[in-house]
Amino acid sequence: MRAFNFSAGPAILPEEVLKEAAAELVDYKGTGMSIMEMSHRGKEYSAVHDECVANIKELLNIPEGYSVLFMTGGASSQFALIPMNLLGEGQTADYTNSGAWAKKAIQEAQMLGTVNVAADCGKEIPTRVPTTDELNLTDGAAYLHITSNETISGAQWKEFPEHDCLIADMSSDILSRPLDVSKFGLIYAGAQKNLGPAGITLVIIKDELAEKCPETVPTIMRYKTHIESNSLYNTVPTFPVYMLCLVTRWLKAKGGLEGIEKINEDKAAKLYAAIDESDFYKGTAVPEFRSNMNITWRLPTEELEAEFIAEAAKANLKTLKGHRSVGGIRASIYNAFPAAGVDALISFMKEFEAKHG
Ligand SMILES: *Cc1c(COP(=O)(O)O)cnc(C)c1O
Repeated sequence: MRAFNFSAGPAILPEEVLKEAAAELVDYKGTGMSIMEMSHRGKEYSAVHDECVANIKELLNIPEGYSVLFMTGGASSQFALIPMNLLGEGQTADYTNSGAWAKKAIQEAQMLGTVNVAADCGKEIPTRVPTTDELNLTDGAAYLHITSNETISGAQWKEFPEHDCLIADMSSDILSRPLDVSKFGLIYAGAQKNLGPAGITLVIIKDELAEKCPETVPTIMRYKTHIESNSLYNTVPTFPVYMLCLVTRWLKAKGGLEGIEKINEDKAAKLYAAIDESDFYKGTAVPEFRSNMNITWRLPTEELEAEFIAEAAKANLKTLKGHRSVGGIRASIYNAFPAAGVDALISFMKEFEAKHG
């Protein structure tokens, strides 16, 4: 039996996708080998790679002049690569601090250059992200970096700031809603939240930005290298790209990003309504910034939270524990999380409250 898996990442994948991958695992399309066992430059894998890029371009309606890259090292290595490639000598980079992930991005950039924290609400409770009008921006900044969804605190940007070079860590909400890519210089996301298995990082970059990279940056660490080689400078993690390709097909069949956004909004709205109509459960994020991906809340005591998590697991509602740094409950309901699991959680919450409230 499949669990209702609320894990924040690596996270649930669509069951249809897992079954398709399982069916093709040992013998990929009559080749007598798995897609994992083939050259990353061969005909079969190349078709998957190119389809994956094309599907992402189609889903996000990516304009000319941008490249879709598959890189390694997770979102965390992008924290370093962005300033290495894009923060020129004597320039300042603006960052917003909205919580744990934004803070990590800031700390890496500070090792490589000058950082201005343009807004800081990283420690506020209830949690939120900055508003576009509270940003204290630097004239001529190399870029402005934001974290579109704070996976740990459950706060999400609903409207993005205007900037000549806006960069976003979208690890936990990429492909969950339509997006105007033309408003961004660079977007990146570790795959293991909302895209596929761990092992690749999706990067969408405006090609002209890659020209800024100083000559001192090693070849493998330059965006330009990956743009020019279609992410095949070295051996790309072929199986994660294959899985992402299947996920993009699944998303297209769901009506693309408009379709999945509607499903995501319905799931999140139901769960927030269940939290709001009770005095027992208390949401962690400021309502106007509530994430549709990671829903966070508290119970009256930590003992009750521990019991809630343990009882839920017995009812097949798995991995609801909040991040170890903040505690509480976190339900990650990414694209692949089924609506039936949200309904099951809400029923469980009502029963638990009736017993303990
Ligand atoms: C998980 C996460 C990261 C870290 O991703 P890795 O792939 O483990 O490096 C960075 N940013 C956000 C918003 C995340 O959710």
